[in-house]
Formats: sequence, C-alpha cells, structure tokens
Amino acid sequence: MTDTTNTPPIGTLTVIGLGLIGSSIARAASKHGLAKEIRGGDMSEQVCEIAKSLSFVDSATTDLGAAVEGADLVVLCVPIGAFKSVGEIIAPRLKSGVILSDVGSVKQAAFTQIEPLLPEGIHFIPGHPVAGTEFSGPEAGFAELFENRWCILTPKSDADEAALAQLAGFWTKLGSKVEIMDAEHHDLVLAITSHVPHLIAYNIVGTASDLEEVTQSEVIKYSAGGFRDFTRIAASDPTMWRDVFLNNKEAVLEMLGRFMEDLTALQRAIRWGDGDALFSHFTRTRAIRKSIIEAGQETPQPDFGRSGKHGN
Ligand code: NAP
Repeated sequence: MTDTTNTPPIGTLTVIGLGLIGSSIARAASKHGLAKEIRGGDMSEQVCEIAKSLSFVDSATTDLGAAVEGADLVVLCVPIGAFKSVGEIIAPRLKSGVILSDVGSVKQAAFTQIEPLLPEGIHFIPGHPVAGTEFSGPEAGFAELFENRWCILTPKSDADEAALAQLAGFWTKLGSKVEIMDAEHHDLVLAITSHVPHLIAYNIVGTASDLEEVTQSEVIKYSAGGFRDFTRIAASDPTMWRDVFLNNKEAVLEMLGRFMEDLTALQRAIRWGDGDALFSHFTRTRAIRKSIIEAGQETPQPDFGRSGKHGN
C-alpha cells in the first residue's frame, strides 16, 4: 500500500447513521479538518436536529440518498442488519469514483449485504474501528474515540490502491492505527477477542439475575467481585449485538466450541482439586493482560480507566 500520511483532504464526507460511531467520526473529522464539507444522514429527524445543534456536521438529513449525492467518502455507521435497506437507498445516488466504507463489526457481512447493490465505479472498502463504548446515540460520541485504537480495513485483493490509501489516511488522521486484513480472518479474530466475550458477559449477567438463592440487591452490592465489569459489557447495544451474532455465526460457534472445551477442563480441575492446573492457567492469562497493557490497549488502573470516556 502507498504512503497514507500525506493523502489529500476529502471534499465531501457523508456519515450515514449518527450514533456513537458515526457521530464520533464526524466529530473527529471536523476537529482535524479532514473534509471541506461534512454531511450527516440519519433516519431520525430528532437525531438530525441533535447533530446540527451539536455542530459536528455541516448539514443533516433524513433523506439518505440526498446525503450521499456527490460525496467523495461515504461511511455507513448503522447496525449490520440495516446495511441492505440503507444500501438500497444510497447505492443509486452514489457518484462514480466515491469511496464507500462502513464500520460494522462483522466484515464478510458487509460484502454480502452491500456489494451486490453497488453500480460500477464505486470503491467499496469495508472497515472496522476496534473502538467503542457501551453507550449509543449522537450524544455518546466524542472526537477522541479512535485515538490509538486499531481500525481494520478489509479490502478485496483487487481494491483500488489510491482509494485504499485515501481511506487508510483518513483513519490515520482520526488517530487510529490502521491494519489491512482479509474479511474472513477479521471475523475469526474478532469472534474470540470481542464477540464471544460479549456473549459470555450477556450470559453471566443473565444467569446472575435469574438466580433465586442470590437476591438482586446482593448481586448489585457485591458486584465489584468481577461481575461489575461484565455488566458494563452486557449493557452494550442490543440491536448491534444481535446483528453481530446473526452475521458472524460460523466463527462465533467455532470459537464458542473451543471456549466450552477449555471451560470443561477448568471445571474438571476444580472438581478434582487440581490446583497446579488452575495455577498454571491463571498465570498464563495474567501474562496476556500484562501484554495488552504494554501494547497500550488498556490501562493498569483498578477501574480500568473507565471512570471517564474509553474505548473497547
Ligand atoms: P448507535 O449509537 O446505536 O447508532 C446506530 C445508528 O444506526 C443510529 O444512527 C440509528 O439511527 C441507525 N439505525 C439503526 N437502525 C437502523 C435502520 N434499520 N435503518 C437505518 N438506520 C438505522 O450504534 P453504534 O454503536 O454507533 O454502531 C453503529 C455501527 O458501528 C454498527 O454496525 C456496529 O457494529 C459498529 N461498531 C460499533 C462499536 C461499538 O462499540 N458501539 C464499535 C465498532 C463498530 P436512529 O438515529 O434512527 O436510531
């Protein structure tokens, strides 16, 4: 890939879906002066009004087709389940030569849902900023969300080099570290690093709230014992996560199978009092956390640095 540090500024940037991720992209692009014009498109009139009043876009409209007309870079920031319906609205209105990208958490789905709708001459390069919070909506976004976070781009092997460099340069200027990956590999990696952990969090919080021997107030009172961090993850947007699991089924089931085998091994070690097996497992996992902190992807503070805004 060519150098991305000196890519020219974008003429018109359109962000479709002004929620957490979309509004953060618009805020960061505005803060760093990355586009001459920043347009927002959102199905909700109310969200468009909020976006205009918070001034992170130059204009906002519920007419998604009009929002993308003439734009040079369009980024889809809606849930994966809405890709097809939104794609059908915008595809005929995209100009030839536009770079179209998305931020969805599953990348093969971006190709299957959007690519068949596109006319010739559109540079479609899916992307996934590995950054976020458990909050949603236009007020939850902030310009620093992507700083020092990975953004994974999953171009096809025949993707236009100049378009890829332009998009990579855009994310670099938003503060991200850009990685290029095959969509299938992305979905497998994210299944174990993000999707299965979210499923575990959703499950454990559900199990705890269903327990009859432990009252709800005890669950809340003693939540610092590990449970609290699961509740943060399990508070993530239900629509987004429903769509992630529906669209990354194979990879999630594959990783879940492995997870359950390893969980059974730990269960056996507890049953047979095998302290050595438990100790060596916990020692190995502790080292993984240390390397995540050393890589700058987490903070060592007891509250995981989550008293304020954060990325995950
Ligand atoms: P969000 O704050 O809930 O925003 C979602 C946006 O999508 C809203 O603007 C919403 O419009 C719009 N939308 C929802 N359903 C729609 C539909 N059926 N048709 C058209 N628009 C629709 O969500 P988010 O966290 O920004 O997530 C957006 C995308 O980012 C998802 O694809 C997700 O996989 C990806 N992502 C999220 C994270 C994260 O941590 N949150 C991280 C990386 C990537 P309304 O204003 O009308 O509700």
